[in-house]
Amino acid sequence: MSGSQRGRKFPLRLDQMGPVRKTLVQNAAAIANTPTGLGLDSADVRRRMVERLRDEGLRDERVLAAISAVPRHQFVDAALATQAYEDTSLPIGHGQTISKPSVVGRMIELMMNGVNARAVQRVDRVLEIGSGCGYQAAVLSLLARQVLSVERLKLLHDKARELMAPLRLANVRLVYGDGMLGHAPNAPYDGIIAAAGGDALPQAWLDQLAIGGRLVAPVRDGANGQVLVAVDRTEHGYERRVHEVVQFVPLKSGLVR
Ligand code: SAH
Repeated sequence: MSGSQRGRKFPLRLDQMGPVRKTLVQNAAAIANTPTGLGLDSADVRRRMVERLRDEGLRDERVLAAISAVPRHQFVDAALATQAYEDTSLPIGHGQTISKPSVVGRMIELMMNGVNARAVQRVDRVLEIGSGCGYQAAVLSLLARQVLSVERLKLLHDKARELMAPLRLANVRLVYGDGMLGHAPNAPYDGIIAAAGGDALPQAWLDQLAIGGRLVAPVRDGANGQVLVAVDRTEHGYERRVHEVVQFVPLKSGLVR
């Protein structure tokens, strides 16, 4: 984050974020114009949630602005909509969950601090493993030029497609596939984010990471259960840093129809 951004008053508008591309501003406008279908003034509730995330230590204004732009309540069942702006994970069906906003924010913040992303103030190409209901992909669409999100459960892939359609985010591509294999046709990626955790990082993710790119993923750690790791690819190899303990759904291989 640049010094001038840090000094700015919150909320920061997306069009104040320096070299922001047209698509990002258009996406935010498309989202803002989507009817909520609820009596809830979601923008207001969302703003309060974002202020809490900020108090709890989320610092990147770009990420906070993106979270405050995406209507999370539209990604969960109507019965859960009133809980959508609490910092909690919620069921999205098929045994899966939409991640906690603070964790979504934390992972994206880490990813945005990779060498390539820092250089251009946004990420160029992002790969997300585990689209789930599409929420995180929508947040990412405001911060990346191109988002490709892979989901192995056909029913969730279809659900994400349906939930995202009204937002008309032209820079997001949802793919039904096994994310353990990454998605080679679009590689390399400047950012890779996994929303499901396995015993180890699949080699495909490391191979498909661009030099200067950063991968952020939960991974099993003997003593602690699951931890968040960030891996940077440099010209000389990979640098891995271990962060906090987290709790994600398991990364599984193969497709489910
Ligand atoms: N980012 C999502 C979180 C979904 S939970 C959101 O914002 O809602 C994690 C998802 O990862 C689940 O939907 C699960 O089916 C999926 N997943 C697990 N293993 C996977 C794999 N190998 N490839 C693709 N998706 C996978």
